[in-house]
Amino acid sequence: MTRLRILLNGTVQGVGFRPFVYRIARTLGLKGYVTNDTGGVVIEVEGAKDKLDDFLLKLHTEKPLLAKIYYEETAYVEPAGYDDFRIEESISTGPPQALILPDISTCGDCTGELLDPDDRRYLYPFINCTNCGPRFTIIKGLPYDRPNTTMKDFHMCPACENEYKDPNNRRFHAQPNACPECGPNVRLVGNDGAPVTGEMDAITSLMEKITSGAIVAVKGIGGFHLICDATSNESVRLLRERKRRTEKPFAVMFRDMEQLKRYAMPDVMEESLLLSPARPIVIVRKKQGTLPEVSPRLEKIGAFLPYSPLHLIILAGLENPVVATSGNISDEPIVRDNAEALDRLSQLAAFIMIHNRPIHRRCDDSVVKVVGEFPQVIRRSRGHVPLPVVLPFRLDKKVLAVGAHEKNTVAIGFDNRIILSQHIGDMQTPESIEYFEEVIDGLSSIYEFTPDVIVHDLHPRYSTTRWAIQQDRAEIIGVQHHYAHILSCMAENGIYDEVTGISWDGTGYGEDGTLWGGEFLACNTGGFQRRYHFRQIRLLGGEKAVREPRRIALSVLFDIFNEGALEMDIPTLRAFDRKELSLLWLAYNRSINTPVCSSAGRLFDALSSILGILQICSYEAQAAMLVEDLYDPAVRDSYGYELNNGIIDWEPLFRDLLEDSETNKAPSRFLNTLALIALNVALLEGREKVCLSGGVFQNSPLTSLISGKLRAEGFKVFTHKNIPANDGGISLGQALYGGMNP
Ligand code: ZN
Ligand code: ZN
Ligand code: FE
Repeated sequence: MTRLRILLNGTVQGVGFRPFVYRIARTLGLKGYVTNDTGGVVIEVEGAKDKLDDFLLKLHTEKPLLAKIYYEETAYVEPAGYDDFRIEESISTGPPQALILPDISTCGDCTGELLDPDDRRYLYPFINCTNCGPRFTIIKGLPYDRPNTTMKDFHMCPACENEYKDPNNRRFHAQPNACPECGPNVRLVGNDGAPVTGEMDAITSLMEKITSGAIVAVKGIGGFHLICDATSNESVRLLRERKRRTEKPFAVMFRDMEQLKRYAMPDVMEESLLLSPARPIVIVRKKQGTLPEVSPRLEKIGAFLPYSPLHLIILAGLENPVVATSGNISDEPIVRDNAEALDRLSQLAAFIMIHNRPIHRRCDDSVVKVVGEFPQVIRRSRGHVPLPVVLPFRLDKKVLAVGAHEKNTVAIGFDNRIILSQHIGDMQTPESIEYFEEVIDGLSSIYEFTPDVIVHDLHPRYSTTRWAIQQDRAEIIGVQHHYAHILSCMAENGIYDEVTGISWDGTGYGEDGTLWGGEFLACNTGGFQRRYHFRQIRLLGGEKAVREPRRIALSVLFDIFNEGALEMDIPTLRAFDRKELSLLWLAYNRSINTPVCSSAGRLFDALSSILGILQICSYEAQAAMLVEDLYDPAVRDSYGYELNNGIIDWEPLFRDLLEDSETNKAPSRFLNTLALIALNVALLEGREKVCLSGGVFQNSPLTSLISGKLRAEGFKVFTHKNIPANDGGISLGQALYGGMNP
């Protein structure tokens, strides 16, 4: 007879872990208890040694689907003489260590009950169990118990209470457990706040509004969505007008896989991503001619399936798929509260569906794209956050990383883990700064975290940098943007020695005060060296050039042909009038407002303008997305380039392009050239491990071309999978650096 004490840390709260422990202990005839505490799950079992061994084995092999154990401590101690096995009240000891689960889409069992007319939760929009439902968005503190969630004020009815207390029930200790008797409910209001009354219930009248072409706002799991009929060009155009979003694609929610396949063509990997518990938006190929207003000019579409009971009910009752886009005014964070929705969304939506389960933390939908042969999370939010990146060592310091500027996330690092926040977005409005602070406060309070060091980008004008340097509570350090990209890729892949980092993106502030973005870096976790970069391009008109591929192309043409460029008869020149051209030549010639940048992203812009694909962007990286669609793997040849003293010269590339009469093959030849450059520089550099990071590596053909070529030469190539290659992954790299380097 002996007693075993076990401490577990991981995703072990809110996944049905304690009832699972209870069941195996009972089956084995063991006595003791299981409880949640701030450090994770604590178990004590006593009995015969062989039974205890069985118990340990079952703990790992039979644990609930969503439970992951990252840390385990066991100790054999003197028996205490327990008389049965119990689930004890949660206790709070020491700093919170337990991992919080992300929000999980409605499980199969709950979906079945939801659509069963005989079930007591038939069409009840807040059905959930220990295998599914909200977590991250409703948790106010640890341990994860009902009083620490936004369900605190809902008192369970006897039927729910029985389920909650029954260890054999799927809802045993399901913290958000609720039913129509005792739980939250929805209401439909007009954009003046007045309730919509009538014969129909709220959800049915909401469906009717959508069918008749209205734009509505619906409160979901991590915030509000704006929703309209995706097949109604008129409604989608109206939504574009109101959101001031001219061409940027909208995500579309489909009732089920069958309906999705009427509009799009997911492959096997994309299909499994669409059905995964995180239920992200997945970028898939759409069928030609379908949903033209949803993703203009693109061959792809962001598709997803209903992930909450409310979405399931709404979609089940509608004929058509719906556009479901974050409920916000452009550039502002997603709207969370009922009052906020009435204030901010009433200009955008005619009707608003609200409910009375508060959202404690906002969380946008995640976006995943298959890049090369792997899925890559390009917006990491709902369903992923706050799962940590687990390190094989402990960080020296507690670190807060504030990210960069676009698609921002922040991260905190302590012990052996780095936790990235949900997607915050672009940091250009006062509202986004507020959200940024809210996210930092939220992460800090739940883990009782105070940083020893705060890490920021080097860009002096980023609002995140300005925020960081104003803090007086910690050591403050800056990490170069493209180095942070590579560190992020290293941390994700568990690489901590020398690598060649290929860091290609739109823009980032360099150590020399110029803009970088087409970098080959020699890196380790202690620092980096800039080894090769693209020849610099002058940004005609500064910031404005970033939104106008025609300005980038013109600058390239001025560099190659001087004033002679003005006589060329190509789409770039035709995109300006005479007066603009002479002003731009003057500015170029006298270097007025023409900062330089070495960005790889800008090469996509120049190409798109010269080929007449795109002259002015309506959203970030539009040129790169259009070029990706035009890639043809059958085209194998490429253009020229030159390497001189660490500079990769694009002049031969653009000269060849201008002489290429097969313009339909030009995008492929361009991508092939970039892949050759990557390979040849990696060969010159010689390090065996190569990390690819930066937004350019969301480009699927380019990423797979480069990885393929490098692997064929014996390199070990590391790309992003769970962490965005774009600036949404920067905070991870910053946190790694700050946590490791005293
Ligand atoms: Zn469920
Ligand atoms: Zn109830
Ligand atoms: Fe970047």
